[in-house]
Amino acid sequence: MTVPARGGTVAELQAPAYPHLLSLLQVGAVTLPNRVIMGSMHLGLEEESDGFERIAAFYAERARGEVGLIVTGGISPNHAGRPVDQGAVLATDDDVARHRLITDAVHAEGGLIVVQLLHFGRYAKHADLVAPSAIMAPINPLLPRALTGDEVEQTVEDFAHAAELAMDAGYDGVEIMGSEGYLINEFTAAHTNQRDDDWGGDAERRMRFPIEVVTRTRERIGDDPLVLYRLSVLDLVPDGANLGETIRLARQIEGVGASLINTGIGWHESRVPTIATMVPRAAFADATRKVMDAVGIPVAVSNRVNDPEVAERLLAEGAADLVSMARPLLADPAFVQKARQGRADRINTCIACNQACIDHTLAGTLTSCLVNPRAARETILLGIPTTRSRRVAVVGAGPAGMAAATSAARRGHEVTLFDAAPVLGGQFDVARRIPGKEEFAQTLRYFRTELDELGVDVRLSTRVRAVDVQGWDEVVVATGITPRTPEIEGIDHPSVVGYLDVLRGDVVPGDDVAIIGAGGIGFDVATFLTHAPSESAEEFFAQWGVDPLFAAPGALVRPTTTPPSRRVTLLQRRASKLGAGLGLTTGWIHRAELAQKQVRMVAGAEYRRIDDEGLHITVDGADETVAASTIVICAGQEPNRSLADELAALGVTAHIVGGAHVAAELDAKRAIREATELAEVL
Ligand code: FAD
Ligand code: NAP
Ligand code: SF4
Repeated sequence: MTVPARGGTVAELQAPAYPHLLSLLQVGAVTLPNRVIMGSMHLGLEEESDGFERIAAFYAERARGEVGLIVTGGISPNHAGRPVDQGAVLATDDDVARHRLITDAVHAEGGLIVVQLLHFGRYAKHADLVAPSAIMAPINPLLPRALTGDEVEQTVEDFAHAAELAMDAGYDGVEIMGSEGYLINEFTAAHTNQRDDDWGGDAERRMRFPIEVVTRTRERIGDDPLVLYRLSVLDLVPDGANLGETIRLARQIEGVGASLINTGIGWHESRVPTIATMVPRAAFADATRKVMDAVGIPVAVSNRVNDPEVAERLLAEGAADLVSMARPLLADPAFVQKARQGRADRINTCIACNQACIDHTLAGTLTSCLVNPRAARETILLGIPTTRSRRVAVVGAGPAGMAAATSAARRGHEVTLFDAAPVLGGQFDVARRIPGKEEFAQTLRYFRTELDELGVDVRLSTRVRAVDVQGWDEVVVATGITPRTPEIEGIDHPSVVGYLDVLRGDVVPGDDVAIIGAGGIGFDVATFLTHAPSESAEEFFAQWGVDPLFAAPGALVRPTTTPPSRRVTLLQRRASKLGAGLGLTTGWIHRAELAQKQVRMVAGAEYRRIDDEGLHITVDGADETVAASTIVICAGQEPNRSLADELAALGVTAHIVGGAHVAAELDAKRAIREATELAEVL
């Protein structure tokens, strides 16, 4: 099949209708209003005292946005399966009442919701973790205990009991989580199941656990409720299942009463990126199609499906019956409604950055969204219409300024947005040029459309001085940052350039490049200088060693490497590992990508001087010259406060947000959240 490239055009997004995506689907006794499932995401609220009220508000908003079927974040069927000590469990009648808040809220909006039953297995971060065999996960320092045969039996029973309680709580069914490397998936793969009893050994015996879980669940809750099974279509770990085994499992799961197969790609410990922004859209859909061809019940496709055009194309081409999206519905709860209204151009598209969702989940903080800070804060960021509309000047149209302007206008203020540049976006407009960050253009498209729809007066190519905005009711300074110039002898040598010069195409670097500074931008510049965007799934699979036929165990084969077009050296002063501060779920990908292109990483560098020979450094007491014809400065940022200072001198009180406020550790997540919060109180 044709795999759609990333970064669909606005024209594509404005396709008038999505006949497949928006058609009804009969699943057993339940009629779904459309083909969109909201995939499971842990919100980090499950363990809070007021958490279930907030979860209820979160899902109610998605139901209002016309999502066809919602799957909750994973809830453990027993104590051992919870993710952390305080992790949520559905095991007693006392647990049921809290879940009622969620089901009532969703049903009041006309939605459908199932609870996901998720046993963390060896990924659990508490002392009682269990697994099929006592084999430690590479992403968890804790060693699991192997379940006894009796305990396996009891765990099957716990799943069935939790499903029964889910019915009491008013859910429309359950999803049994069988993918992503959690307990059930650990049973199905030889990689983690080395048992020699009835629950391990050959592929058939490894499949017994999920089959028993689905059988017992169906018996216990009767014929009508939904039983979704989340199938690991590709394990992407050594000694994982091959596609033939996976298809056999899918057929058997169907045979014992599952209503629908939802799909997952890759274990959490897999070294193949599966959902990050550099993964081409719908890259893995062909594997799901092979499962769909083999079973009679509906199958949902997942992973990097983030716009209705791609979803429609997948369904029309027969890759699946439904699409499962999680992050795109964090980013925009009204995704389906906007698609139905023919206003896909207003969708706030998930850019697959993971920065405010999965990185937060792993860090144990609130799951939210970089482009939509209201996600999981529905009861806090209310956006109540103002009763005293004011003239608001927002200066700077980077992420902070665009978010402030749209949020303030939505509340009913009369907003004018200024930028000195001829285009919207500030530094974000530069970020979108990095190979693998093309999705960032969608955020700019979203803000452009919203500014227009909300009637914000946008004045580009307009540098603002304090006197220009002196008389306004409110002034928001969102003037961003200025790149830092480090004090190094020879810094004004002609070989020295700034990252903006390189990324905007004003300078073409030579064949040997040294990059001073290895933060997010240093890594991105190194990627820009060594990588071309991988537009197709085929190229992506070759780069990361995915078997295009999915026939190998775990679908893994040897990656294909291509030589770098330049020699790049990336340097920092700190002695720590380069890239240690990058995103939890994406940092390893950036490091691996640069390793694929033989980028040399130098930690603990002391910069002595720059001259015609290159960059002279000392590392561990040894002097060295990095022969570089171009030296790119990526040494962090300083706040651009010139307008704020001018305003202060005139006695004008202004609100300062984003990089202009604090440049250290600034990212678009903070810029957008800060600006959205400010707009609440204007
Ligand atoms: P800016 O984006 O700097 O915008 C400030 C705007 O103010 C500019 O457009 C400027 O022209 C305008 N301005 C300044 N003074 C005036 C004036 N006097 N009058 C009118 N206009 C004025 N962040 C992430 O979260 N994730 C990433 O993956 C990521 N990748 C990045 C990759 C690169 C290559 C770069 C450069 C940045 C990346 N960032 C990323 C950082 C992110 O882009 C910034 O944190 C964000 O843009 C800061 O937003 P801001 O609105 O505060 O400032
Ligand atoms: P940064 O992450 O703060 O990194 C700055 C780098 O410059 C560091 O490597 C620092 O390391 C070095 N440095 C600082 N002062 C220096 C000096 N005086 N002389 C020489 N080197 C110096 O900043 P950034 O890379 O500019 O990125 C800006 C923000 O954009 C980041 O905070 C990040 O959140 C965001 N961003 C995020 C991503 C992402 O993928 N999530 C990507 C790009 C950017 P040493 O001090 O050890 O030398
Ligand atoms: Fe998508 Fe990034 Fe938002 Fe997560 S934080 S939902 S990946 S846009």
